[in-house]
Amino acid sequence: MYPRVLIDLAHLRENVQTVKGLCGQRGIQITGVTKVFCGDPRIAQAYLDGGLTMLGDSRVSNLKRLQKLPAEKWLIRPPMLSEAEETARYADAALHSEWEVIRAVADAAHRQGRRHKVILMADLGDIREGYVDYDELLRVAAKVETLPGAELYGIGVNLTCFSFIQSDSEKLGLLADLARRAEEAVGHALPIVSGGNSATIDLMLRDGIPQGVNNLRLGESLLFGKERAKYQYLPGTHRDVFTLECEIVELKEKPSLPWGQVGTDSYGKKPTFVDRGNCRQKAVCALGKQDFDLETTTPVDPGIILLGASSDHLMLDITDSRQAYRVGDAVRLQLGYFSTMRAFTSQYVEKVYLNE
Ligand SMILES: *Cc1c(COP(=O)(O)O)cnc(C)c1O
Repeated sequence: MYPRVLIDLAHLRENVQTVKGLCGQRGIQITGVTKVFCGDPRIAQAYLDGGLTMLGDSRVSNLKRLQKLPAEKWLIRPPMLSEAEETARYADAALHSEWEVIRAVADAAHRQGRRHKVILMADLGDIREGYVDYDELLRVAAKVETLPGAELYGIGVNLTCFSFIQSDSEKLGLLADLARRAEEAVGHALPIVSGGNSATIDLMLRDGIPQGVNNLRLGESLLFGKERAKYQYLPGTHRDVFTLECEIVELKEKPSLPWGQVGTDSYGKKPTFVDRGNCRQKAVCALGKQDFDLETTTPVDPGIILLGASSDHLMLDITDSRQAYRVGDAVRLQLGYFSTMRAFTSQYVEKVYLNE
């Protein structure tokens, strides 16, 4: 059945081993981020098979799906106050930035006979989650330890996600320093000092992560072999963990330019077209914006041009394709980050697991 996404679990396991090797040499442990694939336990298992012991997801419902896997689970978005109960149950640890929420989750954990591990986030410039008042962070750190259902597990930072501020040695030095001050405030060592996501790998490879930072939360680099500061592929990694197949439902010779008066698209923009001549082989596939993201997708056949998509039609120019196609044939697309995310949230896309 099409469309379907093929998941190469052998290639994923190898990516995990490769990235784990790079991090391990520099004293960095990995929390494997599962949100891109909606916390699918069969894929998360490849993280564990590759040697990881900690998993992170931004949604509690995804952590619930991971419940049976033998790993420490982190909620990597500040929890909703309205889901304190579920957070306490399905997350062993969470990234936090609000005292009121910490108290609610700790209370719930206490009632459940559990202990919630708190990682306090510092905002070092990206203006997403975390304390900008570092003294407040330290005061909250001390208060966490007074809660019967919680303990201070560590501190962390997230960069390069909203404002695309890059991590550097100075910022991470500040984080390590904050961790030392938090340790003094609570009177014990902190197991976790979490220095960011796949955008920190470039700094790590330049040996720019200061002493004291010991964790990264990684999604993109494990899944696509890509770091996110310069968007370079890491040597020895695979880019083809996720391949989407969609079916051609129409194949005709058509001109490259539309005819008639051009209006605006749903976003209020006027579309533009490239003139490639009057006789092009055009394919329409049964796939749409609900199922994939055009900007983070590349056809496996380098001769195919992605022209565009509407909610449920994908238009291709296959005039120069390496292979001959007919109606009913499948076209293969290599998925990047956002495209994979869409494919997994779309109920229309079947999931096929290879080399499990
Ligand atoms: C999504 C996310 C990550 C993983 O980011 P990648 O760039 O995919 O490695 C890490 N930490 C937080 C807080 C996130 O939201």
